[in-house]
Amino acid sequence: MAAKKRIKKKSSKFGRKKKCRFCANPQMEISYKNERLLQRYVSDRGKIVARRVTGNCAKHQRQVANAVKVARFLALIPYVREHYR
Ligand SMILES: [Zn+2]
Repeated sequence: MAAKKRIKKKSSKFGRKKKCRFCANPQMEISYKNERLLQRYVSDRGKIVARRVTGNCAKHQRQVANAVKVARFLALIPYVREHYR
């Protein structure tokens, strides 16, 4: 009776606001040549990481996605990683 219900806010899961790293740091250049940067926005299976995960804004996520696609075409980044089969 009269047990206190503690309402836990799932702040860690949803409340955390990620800021777009490229907006925060305008010197950072999104380029297909910047392989190391793009590698961070590609999952271990070679997929482009979603915006809700990366925290990028729409504008920069689009630039990243396009850069990844160009880099794939130039074989800087694999389309898919084989050993995961
Ligand atoms: Zn941005």
